[in-house]
Amino acid sequence: MLTRLIYASQPTQALTPASVQDLVDRARHNNARRHLSGMLTFDSRCFLQVLEGPRSQLSALFCRIAADPRHERVELLEMVSVDERLFAHWSMGFAPADAHHGDVYMRFGDTPHFEPHAMRAGAALGLLQAIAQRGTLQP
Ligand code: FAD
Repeated sequence: MLTRLIYASQPTQALTPASVQDLVDRARHNNARRHLSGMLTFDSRCFLQVLEGPRSQLSALFCRIAADPRHERVELLEMVSVDERLFAHWSMGFAPADAHHGDVYMRFGDTPHFEPHAMRAGAALGLLQAIAQRGTLQP
């Protein structure tokens, strides 16, 4: 059953750009093998990730992600059955949640800052799609 999952979390310690790239590269490799797609955005204080794919694969991955010592305060915003993928082109698209997207944070979160833990699922999904539509996602 095709399912979508969105969560927010925060890193347990400062991550270097190289360690984030390593995480994203491995996620891409793993997700492609498991027919999972999605997107991650990160601003050094918080992660926001959407994942979509077969429910059994998604559940297993989320258990691994939630236990990963690289982050904490892992909050599931949504896990729902869906009819189609919204991020089908990305095994794990990545874009930094930087200040260029202040208008997007304001539109979906009523704040100029990236605050994913305070967002409803629909707003978080809108924010991720808006960032993806700006064409800055690394494939
Ligand atoms: P490895 O990557 O080799 O990891 C083996 C073990 O080592 C795991 O328990 C892992 O948690 C731990 N580990 C690896 N690197 C480090 C490190 N630098 N510091 C501390 N512990 C480490 N995985 C995916 O497959 N797809 C995703 O979309 C995905 N998204 C993620 C998003 C976030 C924000 C985070 C923090 C992790 C994400 N992961 C993702 C990684 C996931 O938590 C597992 O580490 C990964 O699925 C295990 O991959 P692997 O079997 O190749 O083992």
